[in-house]
Amino acid sequence: MKTVGKMNAKVNGNVERKLMLIDGEWTASAGGEFIPVETPAKKGTIIAEVPRAMEADVDRSVKAAAKAFESWKRMSPRDRGKLMLKIAADMEAQSENLAKTLSLETGNAIRTQSRGEIALAADLFRFYGGVASEQKGETVPLGEQVLCYSRREPVGVVAGIIPWNSPILLGALKITMALTPGNTLILKPASDAPLAVLKMARICNAHLPRGVLNVVTGSGNECGTMLARHSGVRKLSLTGSSEVGKSIMAAAAERIVPVTLELGGKSPQIVFPDADDDHVVQSVINGMRFTRQGQSCTAGSRLFLHASIFDSFIDKLVKKLSTLKIGDPLDEATDIGAIINRMQFKKVCDYVKDGLEQKGSRLVMGGLPPKAGPLAQGYFMEPTIFTHIKNEWRIAREEVFGPVLVSIPWEDEEEAIRMANDSHYGLAAYVYSHDIGKALRTAHVIESGWIQVNQGLGILPGTSYGGFKQSGMGREYSLEGMLDKLYAAQVHHREPSVLTLQVHSPRCCKRSPGRVTFKSLQRL
Ligand code: NAD
Repeated sequence: MKTVGKMNAKVNGNVERKLMLIDGEWTASAGGEFIPVETPAKKGTIIAEVPRAMEADVDRSVKAAAKAFESWKRMSPRDRGKLMLKIAADMEAQSENLAKTLSLETGNAIRTQSRGEIALAADLFRFYGGVASEQKGETVPLGEQVLCYSRREPVGVVAGIIPWNSPILLGALKITMALTPGNTLILKPASDAPLAVLKMARICNAHLPRGVLNVVTGSGNECGTMLARHSGVRKLSLTGSSEVGKSIMAAAAERIVPVTLELGGKSPQIVFPDADDDHVVQSVINGMRFTRQGQSCTAGSRLFLHASIFDSFIDKLVKKLSTLKIGDPLDEATDIGAIINRMQFKKVCDYVKDGLEQKGSRLVMGGLPPKAGPLAQGYFMEPTIFTHIKNEWRIAREEVFGPVLVSIPWEDEEEAIRMANDSHYGLAAYVYSHDIGKALRTAHVIESGWIQVNQGLGILPGTSYGGFKQSGMGREYSLEGMLDKLYAAQVHHREPSVLTLQVHSPRCCKRSPGRVTFKSLQRL
């Protein structure tokens, strides 16, 4: 076996090689190659290596998932739900260990980020475990002689592809949403943050039949593309950038398979003149996800401040942000950790340079990262705020995915709403006003999938989450989201012992003749 990946990093003699999960077994890639995983808090330090999955590995995982599907789909939803609950309990029992790994590989601070992410991921297993039996069909009253009902059927093998910013949460989301209703899954974490996902997979694997959950590690261009194009995959579910979303949608179009896309954002935060207070300042900091280094799809990175409070609000914001501690993600005192990798760090720096070059823009906090000192040892950046930005500038239009907030003054409510909606994204939004009528009126005309009023919190299980426009399609975190992508198979009964079936799932089409008996219906 040899190591691949030309990163400017020294591989320590004692770097552990992790294995991936295919068909219930921990395995290296068929080619025997590995990819290094660097910790963002210490440039050049490799913390582990993971297999570089290629075509043969993807193919093996799809076959294993397809085989496992045959029996997994037959388990009652209630029993599948019970397994989700057991996984939730184990996740909670091992939460500290998971949180440490998560912080080490993502650079996210353990106290402000990773522990919460693990708790939310366990909550997701609990939520879907609890609603598993809600996989109900419906009866349709077509008349006395007809029994017409629908069943919700799993689609088969699902490919879940996730980014590096919240790998445990997003991994748990793909696992629960696919597995609970009877699909099987191949999960592909980002190559920058596969380690905590592999640990979560170990917990899941202790409870699940072999092949129900498979985790393949590798790059997007290689194993991600192969997975998206594999003919045995019946549904694609991506959380990632809008660019990759387009290629996933194209792959889905080739085979006409359903697709869920949770993509990027450039979300607005609108502050009305009556909301110039400390609670709103803290909510704007939360909404911008500064303690996640701004690396969140829902980061409220465009701040529309009423002109009459512009200066005083920015003053309070800078004061508050200056109290946050940046540094070692594993240090309990740290509020803000490191940016994920060299490439993303450079990308964020380029946006800062671009902002600095715009005529009229003002940098009021942060800026380019330090070149020396303890913070220069990792990919650390201070929270950065630009004022007097124009909504049409690149820095206000493109997703930076870093701790860079641009603020734009407004005078007229309609102008603020027009600027907020003038974006090809539509993921999240935040509105702040003590006049609840005004806040709700504004919330209703913002083109975003998730709008918060007077708070900047994170998503919770049970609420349907997803984007408008190029922020994506489909909904996650909710029961409706889970049921949405199942096949609705309709059954029509016309005579006492003979049934006419109208089915839309590939499984039933293959097996069912036009007429079946009650007995065979029970077997379906
Ligand atoms: P990315 O799109 O580069 O990668 C996401 C995943 O897709 C990774 O696993 C990657 O390996 C894989 N991938 C890359 N190219 C691929 C291809 N051609 N075919 C198949 N798979 C491929 O995103 P990233 O840089 O890892 O994450 C940041 C992006 O994710 C941001 O745009 C952010 O807004 C978005 N995001 C969205 C949500 C949401 O819920 N809407 C949540 C988190 C992150």
